[in-house]
Amino acid sequence: MTTVRSSNDETEATQSRDVIVIGGGPAGSTAATILARHGYDVAVYEALEFPRVHVGESLIPACNRVLERLGVTEAMSRLGCPEKFGVRFYTERGAGRPFYFSEASDPALHSTWQVRRSEFDTMLLDTARAAGAMVHVRTPVRELLVTPGAGSERPTDRIDGVVAVRPDGSHERVRARVVLDASGQRGVVTKHFGVRDHVSGLENAAVWAHFSGVRLDEGKDAGSTLIYRVDRTTWLWLIPLPDDVSIGVVTPMRSLTEYGRDPASILAAAIEACPAIGDRLDAAERVAPVRVSKDFSYRARREGGRGWALIGDALGFMDPVYSSGLFLALRSAELAADAVHERLAASRDRDGAIDMHGFGTAYHEAFEQFLVIVRAFYSPDFHFGDFAREGERRKGLVDLFTGDVMSEQALRVAREIRERCKLPSRRAS
Ligand SMILES: Cc1cc2nc3c(=O)[nH]c(=O)nc-3n(C[C@H](O)[C@H](O)[C@H](O)COP(=O)(O)OP(=O)(O)OC[C@H]3O[C@@H](n4cnc5c(N)ncnc54)[C@H](O)[C@@H]3O)c2cc1C
Repeated sequence: MTTVRSSNDETEATQSRDVIVIGGGPAGSTAATILARHGYDVAVYEALEFPRVHVGESLIPACNRVLERLGVTEAMSRLGCPEKFGVRFYTERGAGRPFYFSEASDPALHSTWQVRRSEFDTMLLDTARAAGAMVHVRTPVRELLVTPGAGSERPTDRIDGVVAVRPDGSHERVRARVVLDASGQRGVVTKHFGVRDHVSGLENAAVWAHFSGVRLDEGKDAGSTLIYRVDRTTWLWLIPLPDDVSIGVVTPMRSLTEYGRDPASILAAAIEACPAIGDRLDAAERVAPVRVSKDFSYRARREGGRGWALIGDALGFMDPVYSSGLFLALRSAELAADAVHERLAASRDRDGAIDMHGFGTAYHEAFEQFLVIVRAFYSPDFHFGDFAREGERRKGLVDLFTGDVMSEQALRVAREIRERCKLPSRRAS
C-alpha cells in the first residue's frame, strides 16, 4: 500500500535525482537505460529481488526495434530463447493455417523470441545498471512526495519524489524532476491519481504453469505460439520456452469456478475440454507452481502530468491473446524516456518538475489497434481465417500481429474489422 506525504515534510534527509523509476520490469529498465545513457542521474526502485517469476513470455516482432535500440540483441541470443516465427490459432474444430511474420509488410519483422521472464527481465535490468542507472532491488516505494494541486482535481498534484524502504527497513527519501511509474499492475502513481479505467467486456482471469515433455511442432514452427480456443470466451496458450513450455488458460472471471475449485484443477479441466490439443500433452509433466492473474484489462485516462508519467502495465494492458503487453511496455517506456529528455533539455527551470502530459499519443493509437483485434477475437461471428485468407487483408492482419500496427495495411484492416464486428468507437470502454 503506497501512502502520500507532503513534499514539505523534511524530517528525513532528502537525496535528489533527475529521474526516479518505480519498478525494474521491462518498462522501467527500458526507460532507465535510455535516460542514463543520455547522462541523467536515474534511480530505479524495485520491490523484489531479481530474478523473479513473471507472466508474459511471448514477444512480438515490433519489440525487436526497442531491443535493438537498447543494444541487447546479442544478449538475447545468449539467453537461448526459442525463435518465434509466427502464431497458430486452433478453433474448436482444429488447426488454422499458421500466420508467419514473414508475411508482414516490413521484412525486418520476420521473427522474434519467446522468453523466460526471470532471465529476460534480469538481462534488461542489468543493462540499465550498466548504462549508469542506480538500481535498488528489494526496495519498494511506499510513499509518494506530493505537492497538492490547486482545487480538488487530483491530476493537478505535482509528484516531487518518493520514499522507498531499504532491505534493512530504513527509509530513503528522494526527490526528482520526474517520477516514472513502471510498477506494473500495482500502478503506484496510477492509483494515487485514480485514473485507471477497466476495459469493458474483457473481465478475464488467467491460470498458468510450465510443463516439460510437451510435443511441439518441428522446424520453423517449433517456437510458434499456439492459441487453442476452448469455446468462444475461453482459450489456452502454449508458449515454447528454453527448456519447457508455458501453458495457460484465459477465461472470464465469472466462469473460473465452472472449471474447478483450485488453480491446478482449473488448468487441467480447461486442457481436458480442448480436444484440438490432441496428443501434445500426453507425456507432459508440470514443473512449476500453477499461478493466477486477474483483473488485467485496463488503461489510464491520463498518462502524465507535473512530475510524473505512467509506463508499461502501470499505464495499461489488455487481454494477452496477441502478446501485446511487452511491446506496449517497451514502447511506452521509450516514448516517455524521449519525452523526458526533450522536456528536461527544454526546461528553463534547471531544478523544477517537468510536465509529462501528452507524451503517449503513439501509445494510445497502438493500444486502440490491438483492442480492435482483441475484441474481434471474442466476437461471436468473426473468424480471422475466413476474413483474411490471402492478399492485402492477410498482410494487414499479420502487420497487426507483429505490432506494426500503424502500417497502411494494418490501419485499413483494423477499420474493416471494426465495422464488421460493430465495435464501439475509440476509447468507448
Ligand atoms: C495472463 C497474462 C499473460 C500475458 N502474456 C503476455 C505475453 O505472452 N506477451 C506479452 O508481451 N505480454 C504478456 N502479458 C503482459 C506482460 O506481462 C506485461 O505487459 C509486462 O510484464 C509489463 O511490463 P512492466 O515493466 O510494465 O511491468 P512488470 O513486468 O509487472 O514490472 C513491474 C515491476 O514493478 C515492481 N513494483 C511493483 N510495485 C512496486 C513498488 N511499490 N516499488 C517498487 N517496485 C514495485 C514489481 O515488483 C515488478 O518487478 C501477459 C499478462 C498477463 C496478465
